[in-house]
Amino acid sequence: MNFGYKNMDYTLQILSGDGIGTEIVNEAQKVIGWINSNTDITIKTHEDLIGGQAYDEYGTPLADETLENCRKSDAILMGAVGGPKWDNVEYNKRPEAGLLRLRKELDLFANLRPALVFDALIDASTLKPEIVRGLDILIVRELTSGVYFGEPRGIKDIGNGQRRGINTQSYTTEEIKRVARVAFDLARKRSNKVHSCEKANVMESGKLWREEVSTLRAEEFSDVTLEHMYADNCAMQLLKNPSQFDVIVTDNLFGDILSDEAAMLTGSLGMLPSASLGHKGSSALYEPVHGSAPDIAGQGKANPLATILSLAMCLRYSFDRGDIAEKIENSVQKVLNDGIRTEDIMTKGCLEVSTSEMGDAIVKSLGQ
Ligand code: NAD
Repeated sequence: MNFGYKNMDYTLQILSGDGIGTEIVNEAQKVIGWINSNTDITIKTHEDLIGGQAYDEYGTPLADETLENCRKSDAILMGAVGGPKWDNVEYNKRPEAGLLRLRKELDLFANLRPALVFDALIDASTLKPEIVRGLDILIVRELTSGVYFGEPRGIKDIGNGQRRGINTQSYTTEEIKRVARVAFDLARKRSNKVHSCEKANVMESGKLWREEVSTLRAEEFSDVTLEHMYADNCAMQLLKNPSQFDVIVTDNLFGDILSDEAAMLTGSLGMLPSASLGHKGSSALYEPVHGSAPDIAGQGKANPLATILSLAMCLRYSFDRGDIAEKIENSVQKVLNDGIRTEDIMTKGCLEVSTSEMGDAIVKSLGQ
């Protein structure tokens, strides 16, 4: 097959992680194998440990050498981290701490979470089919600042048996503009519309957010439609009329909540990919939204499609090969239309397959 591009080699750091991580990433590796044999690009993979596996092997959930390899690679594909085995490990050595460190060290400030409803899975949504049919929303969440990182923070004794819990919401002009720029850029490749969400009515940081996003649009993106919306209204509108949205940009806290809500419009955790992007030209992280699913690990039941769709995002955003990404997404669509399902998305009349059989079905469909 010839896509009409020059040959290109890319390096991909693979971090399978814990629980179902290895099972789902193995299926994405099959797709990488197909890409290497059938397109004009070559993806060279390098595998390493993260999370609980890394803690067991290296005594830390993210070794310095692994981090360096991630930094040097063009992109990173991760499975998931965590599990009951490490529940009693000290906080900064827990599996999740490895992932947080990776995001922070690479300054992955823009978290992209698409909420895409596949026609074949429309009944999995809790909303009526006519509300979610054809839904395609992209939430861009600021990931490295805001109330989860702001200082001062902590729990203080304030006397008389009382305590005060403190977190600080804080954003600078640059932090707002750089994530908004990502959203506007993406909107230009989609429907050219951005909703920016905050609580400018009650929070100064929200007022600043609104002003800076407006300024950026006027300076660099006057061709893109911008609408401001209070985050609570956005939560309501996502349920009432989700198809009004294309790209939503919002802060870390509201993004955490709104992206989970939007994702659930699609009804199925095993189908949701994500990307975390940093500065132009630096390595980005691609991973499914779900966790390590210890309850089904090792049983061949995990749905690998979120990981395969994360690989598609990697092709689109890090390797600039939207054509190959689209081919993978179309194969997922076709396999679902053919009634092939893992247990989590199984419905009557469909064929239930294992993790590995689902990966094989995608590769087979890619070859057709
Ligand atoms: P989870 O996402 O792992 O699982 C929630 C439910 O969804 C489970 O019933 C699971 O079986 C199911 N599920 C998840 N992914 C699936 C898939 N691909 N196919 C089929 N079913 C799937 O969330 P949890 O149970 O709350 O957390 C388990 C562990 O994962 C915890 O240690 C948690 O900290 C960690 N976690 C990691 C990440 C990450 O690595 N980014 C994200 C969330 C949770």
